[in-house]
Amino acid sequence: QHRTNDLEAFWMPFSANRQFKKAPRMLVSADRMHYRTDDGRSVLDGTAGLWCCNAGHNRPKIVEAIRAQAGELDYAPAFQMGHPKVFEFASKVVNIAPEGFDHVFFTNSGSESVETALKMAVAYHRVKGNGSKFRLIGRERGYHGVNFGGISVGGIVSNRKMFGTLLTGVDHIRHTHDLARNAFTRGEPEHGADLADDLERLVTLHDASTIAAVIVEPVAGSTGVLIPPKGYLQRLRAICDKHDILLIFDEVITGFGRLGTPFATDYFGVSPDIIVTAKGITNGVIPMGGVFVKSKIHDAFMNGPEHLIEFFHGYTYSGNPIACAAGLGTLETYKEDGLLTRGAELAPYWEDALQSLKGLPHVIDVRNIGLIGAIELESIPGEPTKRAFSCFLDAFERGILIRTTGDIIALSPPLIISKAEIDQLIGTLAQVLKDSI
Ligand code: PMP
Repeated sequence: QHRTNDLEAFWMPFSANRQFKKAPRMLVSADRMHYRTDDGRSVLDGTAGLWCCNAGHNRPKIVEAIRAQAGELDYAPAFQMGHPKVFEFASKVVNIAPEGFDHVFFTNSGSESVETALKMAVAYHRVKGNGSKFRLIGRERGYHGVNFGGISVGGIVSNRKMFGTLLTGVDHIRHTHDLARNAFTRGEPEHGADLADDLERLVTLHDASTIAAVIVEPVAGSTGVLIPPKGYLQRLRAICDKHDILLIFDEVITGFGRLGTPFATDYFGVSPDIIVTAKGITNGVIPMGGVFVKSKIHDAFMNGPEHLIEFFHGYTYSGNPIACAAGLGTLETYKEDGLLTRGAELAPYWEDALQSLKGLPHVIDVRNIGLIGAIELESIPGEPTKRAFSCFLDAFERGILIRTTGDIIALSPPLIISKAEIDQLIGTLAQVLKDSI
């Protein structure tokens, strides 16, 4: 039995356990597509943990790699010293990265990867002699983790409002009007390039000579699955090229096979300058992130020892042996199961299943890309988030784990999901929606 004190010691403001009141639901073990709860029930994982366990749970190659590494070289400061696994993992992971991304900087999370990329971008311009380029541009409804830089460039006003000005010189691409809303959510694709032109507005407003970088998620996940309209990312790339602005893709969610290609960069055929990753890099099993850069960025810092010192950055656990071993086990598992492209094979089936939810009570939009899905619900007046959250609780009782963000249900199952499991996930969700409040 758990004492109240035990439950209160762990402070996580968003924890759904608070909503479960006195009986928190404990996940005690996991295997492939399923969690097991403390009361012995099996729950189908519809969210790959938190968009991270792309190969599912408890995969032997990953478990074994971690076990063996912990018994051999548990920790080494890759910050100063090398060790075999960090070189091996770096070279293998850049091999699956999009073309031109020949270097990786290891961090421990998505938030840290974001901070690393933002600092890199500003420092890059400085070593190139453009010290006036310091501004960072994010996007409305962008999510880039919870550290100060990330919430500054992030587009969630409620995450920023407690913290005053945050980073100075930050601005956001805006897509508030209905046309933009529909383009990102309802699949009205023809205006993508026009929408990206909001970046030109910022370039004029701030002067291109002050702007270091633009950061966007190719597909925004946590803020409700926003799929870029056709031509949008291409136009962002073109504007950045025109004004010597670096383009950063935050692929924390889209990286490692989520869209049916290794990265969203491959999916959309638009190549940024820096790619931010985490989550799937170790199948979510050990905290790790990776920032992939092209040689032009890497080499800019390698022109002399003074530049190395100007970009003084790195973490105690950057490239730590156990995370690298987990990463190697993850890549092997992805390869063996063909997971970096499996999403593409499953996407049509996934789409049909998801779209069958259209027309169910309170459903106002259903959208999907790769193995991501979103079901947007009409909010109960005055009680935003309540309807989706009650679906989340009901779904859990019926044996499926889903995720909600506002009144949007987000799905991102492990990429090993079978068609029968897709049927179970979506079929159960249909029942939940039919009975929803
Ligand atoms: N960027 C994106 C796009 C994310 O989705 C997330 C986490 N959901 C982060 C950054 C932050 O990652 P972490 O929680 O590992 O810090």
